[in-house]
Amino acid sequence: MTFSKLGLSEKVLQAVEASGYLTPTPIQAEAIPHVLAGRDVLGIAQTGTGKTAAFTLPMLSRLEKGRARARMPRTLILEPTRELAAQVEESFARYGINHKLNVALLIGGVSFGDQETKIMRGADVLIATPGRLLDFSERGKLLLTGIEILVIDEADRMLDMGFIPDIERICKLVPFTRQTLFFSATMPPEITRLTEAFLHNPVRIEVARAASTAITISQGLVASATGPAKRETLRRLIRGAADFKNAIIFCNRKRDVAILHKSLQKHGFNAGVLHGDMDQRARMASLDAFKSGGVDLIVCSDVAARGLDIPDVSHVFNFDVPTHAEDYVHRIGRTGRAGKTGIAVSIVTSADQKYILQIERLIARKIDWLAGESLANLPEEETGHRVPRGERPQRSRRTAPGGGGARARASTSRPSDIAASATTPKPIASHRRDGDRPSGEAVSKQAGAPRQQHQKEDGSPVIGMGDHVPMFLLRPTTVKPGKAAADKGDPGKNTRMG
Ligand code: AMP
Repeated sequence: MTFSKLGLSEKVLQAVEASGYLTPTPIQAEAIPHVLAGRDVLGIAQTGTGKTAAFTLPMLSRLEKGRARARMPRTLILEPTRELAAQVEESFARYGINHKLNVALLIGGVSFGDQETKIMRGADVLIATPGRLLDFSERGKLLLTGIEILVIDEADRMLDMGFIPDIERICKLVPFTRQTLFFSATMPPEITRLTEAFLHNPVRIEVARAASTAITISQGLVASATGPAKRETLRRLIRGAADFKNAIIFCNRKRDVAILHKSLQKHGFNAGVLHGDMDQRARMASLDAFKSGGVDLIVCSDVAARGLDIPDVSHVFNFDVPTHAEDYVHRIGRTGRAGKTGIAVSIVTSADQKYILQIERLIARKIDWLAGESLANLPEEETGHRVPRGERPQRSRRTAPGGGGARARASTSRPSDIAASATTPKPIASHRRDGDRPSGEAVSKQAGAPRQQHQKEDGSPVIGMGDHVPMFLLRPTTVKPGKAAADKGDPGKNTRMG
């Protein structure tokens, strides 16, 4: 398959060639002809599949006819975060190099003035986050009645961020006759409902499962105590990383992002930071510094980093194991992109074992411990389970949990061990018994179970059972025959795509 067979205009094909793309990705090959034909598209695809070009390229071809009027954009792309919106703007600049189109960006954290000037000039393409878009529309500065194509990107992320009511309002402000292109990595019931309400007879295109991790990524686990020892573990990993170029470091909470960032700087590391509380200018500056090599480490929260396309990241470190298995897939997908190799190492404390099991179920493979690493090596206080007396590591009972013990352990795993074990599978640590792993159907049911309540990024307490899921809740449910039939043909229903 070549791009020239897809029906794209000559100008677009030249830009594609200039980008160095030789063949369309599966989502591009499938979606582009339908978008050009004016069909609604439901694309189930995550970032990294080439989905941005799958909608940008045919939109550019279609925009060659007609022109925009003041305050009335012709096309609208909704993105959940400012960074993703800015990334799509970059794609339009790259692929639209042979077009004279006005592209406007409406995102929070940037002054209204410049954005208004662009809209007044007439935008062919408007890329927006939902909140700022509604602000403009409510102030009468923007009319959505001229929208010919509406793109809703990263819909499941919009759901996580509470944007669905905004999306519904926006869908009602654009003409009924517009074409809608809808993308989501997963199809939870709320998203399915949205597509049923706002898409007209869409073509459904599903590419690579959200649960798959690239084969170009070597994954590994490292055991650690909590507290300062965990930061020491990370420093050891960074210092010993083989073929290190740069790394994205993920924390689960904004508060920890800030602490870790300061700590790394204090220890002489060249580190930047990216989290949702930073203003837009600071976020872009951080990202640019990392992309250009000004800093070689960036400490991130999930919200800030999801979907970012940063080419050439050599390492991803999970300072915290994510509490949602899908986040693991997204995080480590920041490395090993476009055929390059990457290394992803997760720091595991005794409290994280259940999350590692959930991740392994989702990606349908075990993640190996790096050489010499095992939770069994942690002090008893840290593992939470008893180690037979004879097998206990020799250490002073007065060693503080997670203190000198972790530092001493750090010296047992040399850089060469890490490099070697990140590429050579090792047997999983013996504390994980086969009985811990549910069999066949139960595994897939669990991997596809509805998302638990997200642990709050600000570290506020978790309500109810928190992250603990009793086994009875994970058991396969029985569905009444009538409902089962209704659900048939919609594999995404009630299922995290996996
Ligand atoms: P996306 O899924 O849109 O975030 O794209 C992921 C990455 O793939 C981006 O860096 C794109 O530049 C790149 N890309 C998109 N389409 C192609 C293609 N047909 N061939 C090679 N790389 C591509």
